[in-house]
Amino acid sequence: MSDHILRATAGENTVRLFIANTRDTVEQAYEYHNTSPVMSAALGRSLTAAAIMGSMLKSDKDVVTIQIKGDGPGGGLTVTSNSRSEVKGYVNNPNVDIPLKPNGKLDVQGALGYGTLTVIKDLGMKEPYVGRIPLVSGEIAEDMTYYFAKSEQTPSAVALGVLVDRDYSIKQAGGFVIQMMPGAPEEIITDLEERLMTIEPVTSMLEKGMSSEDILNILVGDREPHVLDRIPVNYVCNCSKERVEKALMAVGKKEIAKIIEEDGKATLHCHFCSKDYDFSREELEKLLTM
Ligand SMILES: [Zn+2]
Repeated sequence: MSDHILRATAGENTVRLFIANTRDTVEQAYEYHNTSPVMSAALGRSLTAAAIMGSMLKSDKDVVTIQIKGDGPGGGLTVTSNSRSEVKGYVNNPNVDIPLKPNGKLDVQGALGYGTLTVIKDLGMKEPYVGRIPLVSGEIAEDMTYYFAKSEQTPSAVALGVLVDRDYSIKQAGGFVIQMMPGAPEEIITDLEERLMTIEPVTSMLEKGMSSEDILNILVGDREPHVLDRIPVNYVCNCSKERVEKALMAVGKKEIAKIIEEDGKATLHCHFCSKDYDFSREELEKLLTM
């Protein structure tokens, strides 16, 4: 089944649920960046969170970016999504290889270390909205939970998971976000909290072949969830020679003249899809005349 987010409500619209299956998207990220398993997990969890947050955006042109900066060997990562849940991202150090945690899981916290998580929402205003929290766990789901509570005053439950196969390809990836809107009855909150304490990890449910609808039913039980829609999730990089050219121009003509003098050519690398753009001496010289 292709990647998607199932959006639903429960408790007469006082509970919002987003259930994501993002295997192909995370696999695409792995193929672009050749990430080690632990960094595939860090990037994949973050891409899933971004896709879900993207689906919460109201306007067509809105963009959300999640940036993690840590003092661990992975350094950090950047992921972004538009309102159509078209995501892209990269990690600072894709090759980090650290031991598994005692429970056999990939040590994302160990790779990222301590630092900050920043959410930037470009909502078409003069200034973007910026919310920053200290990393409380470094495992990303707990950090997103803290972000939603602290910066958006929305009590939420977040689960994110990536299962990496023996050959380092992505076997499963997905997650969910549950948000309590004002007026959510106490009994629903208590019931959800109890379910979340006993629920299996998302990747285990996906490994069993459970659909997003199955996971939704486990989360809300007999509370009659109301499915709103199912939206696709895709890895999309919109880079082009023209865009890269603009970025090069922004560096300044003085700098371009220096590149011509020293190297006679330039190669610019897209962080999001690893594509290289070559500029010949002639092309660089043409930029100087623009
Ligand atoms: Zn690109």
